[in-house]
Amino acid sequence: MSEPAHDRSAVVGDPHRELHDRLIEAGLLFATPVQGLYGRSETYQEVVRALDAMVHRWALTLEATTIHVPPVLARSTFDATNYLQSFPDLMGSVHIFSGNDRTHAELVRRVEAGGDWQALLEPGEVVLSSAACHALYPMLSGRLPAGGRRFEVNGLCFRHEPSVDPARMQSFSMHEVVYVGDPDDAQQHRDRGLRVALARLAELGLEAEAVPANDPFFGRLGTALAASQLEEELKLEAVTPIFAGRERTAVVSANCHRDHFGQPFGIENDAGAPAHSACVAFGVDRITIALFARHGLDPSTWPNEVRSALFS
Ligand code: ATP
Ligand code: ZN
Repeated sequence: MSEPAHDRSAVVGDPHRELHDRLIEAGLLFATPVQGLYGRSETYQEVVRALDAMVHRWALTLEATTIHVPPVLARSTFDATNYLQSFPDLMGSVHIFSGNDRTHAELVRRVEAGGDWQALLEPGEVVLSSAACHALYPMLSGRLPAGGRRFEVNGLCFRHEPSVDPARMQSFSMHEVVYVGDPDDAQQHRDRGLRVALARLAELGLEAEAVPANDPFFGRLGTALAASQLEEELKLEAVTPIFAGRERTAVVSANCHRDHFGQPFGIENDAGAPAHSACVAFGVDRITIALFARHGLDPSTWPNEVRSALFS
């Protein structure tokens, strides 16, 4: 985690608030009534597209298959990932109306009376996606070829973590490069991928370092899960300073999942064992925010080396 939970609210002189306000005043982000939910300007989105192209160029060298995934995930996939056991506080569910004329009349009555119309909805067949790579695994059920497969998975994610920190959004872009196959190759993909990510960040003028990390597991049980994830170095993050005097922010995460996805989705390596997987997840919005914080709010004035690394 890049920032302790108690630090997430705005205080006067807060560097998170300062950058947040500067990005909005510059017209790069557009505020909404909800914290962590923004409209993006064309200039902002040009940087996002350039970063996506940078990740894509790396994925091409790995002969990865490219999949652009939707921002919602099949509820059946979500249920199979055990996400609720670990991160109930971050998830978002999509609810739908499937009533008749009578329940519709009641729905309208409640809306007009400012009442509890949500109680007339029911869970839809999708939830909001919390990580781009989750959509991939159910597509791979069955036997993999020898050597496994590589994928590039890109999509918008949702996490309920309202914050004034502009690098901690509720809706943000995640661009991942994933390996599925054998345990050793998964580990190697993760480690090589992280090195590639650090090199790309350096070319973009962002000082970054790899550090062991843990996911923000929920509750008392979560403390133990986080400790063992740290100890086994299953998750590494590339962290970069965005806010003076604050903890560095994770802009890329590199994760070994073991057979956490291979097992429930029935993915087998060529020998018939549950496949292992690993992903290198670029937080494209976070990198964009880091670039604006580091090089200024007008990309046309960024250092030439950075511009040519990014927009080549
Ligand atoms: P953090 O520890 O900062 O909460 P995380 O460990 O939960 O992040 P991952 O689940 O590894 O993050 O997500 C992959 C990448 O997605 C992160 O490295 C980060 O760059 C990006 N990311 C995660 N959460 C957010 C968010 N709320 N807003 C913007 N980007 C995010
Ligand atoms: Zn992933």
